Parts: sequence; structure tokens; C-alpha cells
Amino acid sequence: MDLRFLGGAREVGRSALLVDESLLLDFGTKADTPPQFPVSTPTPDAVVASHGHLDHVGTIPALLSGTHRPPIHWTPPTYELALTLARDTLKLHGGTYHCPFIENDIKRVTEVSRTHGYGVPFDAAGYEVTFYNAGHVPGSAHVLVDDGDTRLLYTGDFHTTDQRLVSGTTARPDADVVVCESTYSDVTHDDRDSVEARFAESVKTTLWEGGTVVVPAFAIGRTQELLLVCDAHDIPCYVDGMGKRVTEMLLQYPGFVRDSDALQRAKSHARFVTGRDGQRKRIADQQAAIVTTSGMLSGGPAMTYIPEIRSNPVNKIAMTGYQVAGTPGRSLIDSGRAEIDGRVLPVSAQVEQYDFSAHADHAGLRAFLDDYRDATVLVNHGDDCAAFADALRDEGFTARAPERDDTCPV
Ligand SMILES: [Zn+2]
Repeated sequence: MDLRFLGGAREVGRSALLVDESLLLDFGTKADTPPQFPVSTPTPDAVVASHGHLDHVGTIPALLSGTHRPPIHWTPPTYELALTLARDTLKLHGGTYHCPFIENDIKRVTEVSRTHGYGVPFDAAGYEVTFYNAGHVPGSAHVLVDDGDTRLLYTGDFHTTDQRLVSGTTARPDADVVVCESTYSDVTHDDRDSVEARFAESVKTTLWEGGTVVVPAFAIGRTQELLLVCDAHDIPCYVDGMGKRVTEMLLQYPGFVRDSDALQRAKSHARFVTGRDGQRKRIADQQAAIVTTSGMLSGGPAMTYIPEIRSNPVNKIAMTGYQVAGTPGRSLIDSGRAEIDGRVLPVSAQVEQYDFSAHADHAGLRAFLDDYRDATVLVNHGDDCAAFADALRDEGFTARAPERDDTCPV
């Protein structure tokens, strides 16, 4: 089996792995300025996607822009999320280099889509492929690829700890080769319950003091997790941005969330913002949490709320995810200023950060890999893949960190 890393090697973003020039695993977009795409656009016999995040499925419609029509295999939520992301990219960037496909390509995605549940093997390009719950976001999968000789486990993004929205990964299918993500290989997450307790306490304090809390959150996974947290702690909340649509969609697939009744209750507990008639300006005055995209303040309704609440020190901005260098969210945390529509605005409101990660940390990655001591481990999807591969080798693993466009015979 030959593995060619078209992206996601020693970087986070544009994940794409080509197996024997025939089976493509993921085809993502790196959210950079400008965005970056996998190093080449192959013509595979089939495509398999691990989960519905931009850096794993964002470039998939571009595979269909010529005459080639490979089937695309994914779970039902991943299919829906990929379409949502593609339409959003088209709306924001259609007709520019930032969008490598057109509307017709998205329509073709619906024609070649094949959906599968967890644990049910299927054929893709002559390989036997099986999905296992990866515990990252709803529909996320570890992808096991078996050619009858070599078994490849492509972990995709995963979490070993339970979140409110999805349970952590427990499946450890036998494999000869593991391509393992390493986003947080040098991080130890605080215990999730204590992160949640601190968040709830802090938000409630601000509301008691008469303030408003803006909670920037990624639309896929994080928004729903925060709605569940708000419901569990009885925090009055609004939800705005793409996360609203994603929440509605996920309720259609109860088998892919940990507790769909809880998600339904959380949805009923939250008030959905329409944005009509100056609603956002009014809400920005209320004693409530506002869970809104974008998670890194790089667009979305968050950009309407921040200017409204920023000058009152009683108010709060509670960041809930990793902030990539160069994003407005990162500069807010580092410098206390936010760049909104090209203007740099000072922020007197309190700014806090909470680690609601959906990825395994160092201990989680190690615990996962302990079941693969006899396998060859190829580390990808991280800022320091080489260091993690070195550390694994020191512990007796056969491990390395391929570079972008490397082909690895395994
Ligand atoms: Zn992801």
C-alpha cells in the first residue's frame, strides 16, 4: 500500500491522503489568508471523508469539476455538514480563488454521495472500508481501510474523553498502519467537568452583575456543546450564526449524538436569533449568553455583537476554542483589541478563554496508540508532528512524520 500525503502533513488544515493513487481519504481546505488546498487534485476511484470540518471536506466539490465522478463515502451527518460548508464557501467566496468549485459541483456531490453508519463494512475502490465512532463531532469517523493484505487505520480527528454532544472513541480495530492526528500532542487538557464548571460560574457572575456574555463558537460541534452546557447549568442563552442550522440538522440524526433528547432540550432552552428588525442590537443589552459564530471572530454575527458590548467592563467575551495566529480572536486575547471590519477597536469587556477541545490531548493520544504498539504509526495533522513521532520512537514505536507530498510505502 502506498500512502501519498497531499495535505495535512506537518500542518493542521487541507487534510488529504491518497491510497495507491486510487482511494482518497479527506480533501480539505486550510483556512489561511488566502486559503490553501491540497497540493494536487487527483482523480481517485473513490473518496472517503472522516468528518464534516472544513479542513477535511472543504475542497471535495472541486473533485467533481471535470468529467470524473468518483463516489463519495461518509456518514449522513458528514455528508450534510460537507454540503453546508460548501454552500457557505460558495456564498462567501464564489467566483474567486478562495472557492475552487461552482454551484454545479456541489449538486454533483449529492449525486455521487453514499452514506454509511458505524461498524458496517462497505466497498470503496476495491478496498473494504469500515467507519468507527471517533468521538470528535457528530458523524466523525476513524476510517479502517483493508486491501486484504494491509489494514490501514486513518484516525481522522478524535477525542478519547466524553463530551456532552458525543461520546469519546472506544473502538480500536486491528491495524498494521495507523495515520494518527496530533493536534494537541503537546497539550494536557484540564478536566472537562472543571472547565465547564468554571465557564458556567463565570457566565452566571456576569449575568448577575447585569452584563452580557458573547460566546464565540465554531458552528459544527462547539455551538451544540455550548447549548448543552447552557441548558445543564440553566444559563439563559441565544444562539446565532451557522450553528443554528447545524443544530437543527443534527437533530435529524439522533444515532450520531450522545443524547438526542438532551440536544432537543438544549435547542428548546436556547432562543434562536433571526437577526430581523435590529434584534441583535437589542439582545446585546440583555443578561444572557450569546453563542455565535465565528469561533475565531473572523466573520459571522459575532462581529455585530462585539462592537455592541465591548466598551462595558461588566460584559464578557468567553472564547471557547483554539485561536489560530493571525485571527481577530487571537489578537483579542493577546492584545485586548479586536479588529472588526478593518477597524481596530479597544475592548474593555473581560476576555476569557476556555478549552472545550474536541481533540485528544497528549495523554489521550498516547492511550489510544498504546493499542497499536506493533503497528507503523505515521503522525499527521499537527503543528509539531515530528516531535511527537520522535517521542513515540523513544518509547519503542515505529513512528515517523511524513512531509507534505511524501509517498510512504507501507
Ligand atoms: Zn475536525
